Amino acid sequence: MKAKGSRQSTGTPRVIAIDGPAAAGKSTVGREIGIQLGYPFLDTGAIYRAMTWTALHRGVDLSDEDALSELAASLSIDVGPPTPESIEPSTIFVDGQDVTRFLRQPEVEAAVSLVSRVAGVRNALVKLQRDLAGRNAVVMAGRDIGTVVLANADLKLYLDASVEERARRRFAELSALGMDLTEEDVLRDLRRRDRIDSERSVSPLRPAEDAVVLDTDGLTLEKVVQRLMEIVEGSA
Ligand code: C5P
Repeated sequence: MKAKGSRQSTGTPRVIAIDGPAAAGKSTVGREIGIQLGYPFLDTGAIYRAMTWTALHRGVDLSDEDALSELAASLSIDVGPPTPESIEPSTIFVDGQDVTRFLRQPEVEAAVSLVSRVAGVRNALVKLQRDLAGRNAVVMAGRDIGTVVLANADLKLYLDASVEERARRRFAELSALGMDLTEEDVLRDLRRRDRIDSERSVSPLRPAEDAVVLDTDGLTLEKVVQRLMEIVEGSA
């Protein structure tokens, strides 16, 4: 594992941003770090997925940026603790309906990066994410947390891994959920999402200048958590 970058502050960090490409392990390790520190964990990918599922479900034309932006601004999205049977770190409600079980559907997977590149959608969802974080201690994961959403975070982490390694991890997770797809399908989808997420004009995926970058190829997620906790404690 390579680590580079600088630490932000003295004192135990209260606001921790974790960014990185799809399936880099942000959600799994972010949740574990949250548990170890006693901080809530917020996976912002789930919020973009909930917005995307709602747009698909309501038949919104995904090429209509105004319609998508209006929908994002009108939705009431809430985040609650996970239910025992769910692998997701949280339960996501849209206008009071629990939509968590829809978030990994292939249709959502295929559309989420297209919906997420719309400026009006991001404006509405970034505001929501900041409101959810409030002024509390938090671990928040996504693509633009250290660069935009919580640009003043005490500690910014950027988790990376080769696309092949990420495809292996994501394929294992989705197969365990009973989804019928091949590792090749997962690899193709990750490459496509990486490209859209990094090339979009609004808040493209990139490490913040002051992020600590970890390349996790070949490491178990337990090792990644251990290394990240050393970094968190090292910044105290
Ligand atoms: O993290 P996850 O793979 O669940 O994110 C799904 C998609 O949501 C990403 O591919 C990206 O397009 C979008 N996203 C984003 N900004 C975030 C989190 C997710 O654009 N902060």
